[in-house]
Amino acid sequence: MASRKATVVGSGPNGLAAAVRLAQAGLEVTVHEEAATVGGGCRTAELTLPGFRHDVCAAVLPLARRSPAFAGLDVEWIDPPAPAAHALLKAQARFGAGAVLGPNVSLTSSVPIIDVTGSEPVEHRGYVPPRAIVIPGTRPKAFPAGTYHLACALIVGWRSEATELKVSLNEALREHGLG
Ligand SMILES: Cc1cc2nc3c(=O)[nH]c(=O)nc-3n(C[C@H](O)[C@H](O)[C@H](O)COP(=O)(O)OP(=O)(O)OC[C@H]3O[C@@H](n4cnc5c(N)ncnc54)[C@H](O)[C@@H]3O)c2cc1C
Repeated sequence: MASRKATVVGSGPNGLAAAVRLAQAGLEVTVHEEAATVGGGCRTAELTLPGFRHDVCAAVLPLARRSPAFAGLDVEWIDPPAPAAHALLKAQARFGAGAVLGPNVSLTSSVPIIDVTGSEPVEHRGYVPPRAIVIPGTRPKAFPAGTYHLACALIVGWRSEATELKVSLNEALREHGLG
């Protein structure tokens, strides 16, 4: 018996998920893609400078790991050591140019951002200074029931001129024992 065939137009995440599902069901699948590379809105491309790879569309995919579409597939998940970094070399009101946030940093206007690189702590609120390298931290706070540790953010280093001159963000974090 001739095998059943399916044609999928478009190799974005939905097209690829459909293609995989159809192939798993035993169909012979052909995927047509008009762009030069597969992936649709989940592609990565050098949009600015050579070697600097950007998300073309989707950048944050928090539910992907739990998606049934990926269950059982041999997929390698890649978590960036720096989930966020300022890409523009221009001073911003709340997030200084060239600053880097390490994984799991949670910032709100009330979370203290404490610079621990000098002999005394320097505290900022709602503002990350330019070129700061920020990691999550905790600080003790006394309550009637005892002392508990609340979240804060720690500035543990500063991106150097050399780093800012396009050395990778991963290197900036590794210099400080992260990533
Ligand atoms: C700027 C932006 C940011 C986004 N950020 C996020 C995010 O952070 N998190 C998130 O979950 N989602 C995000 N999204 C949404 C996410 O990218 C889309 O939901 C997802 O890509 C849709 O997948 P898809 O397969 O349906 O379509 P697409 O990813 O658009 O893929 C469609 C594919 O079909 C191809 N195609 C179209 N017509 C034809 C044709 N006639 N012949 C051959 N090929 C064809 C296209 O070239 C493309 O490759 C973002 C979208 C945009 C635009």
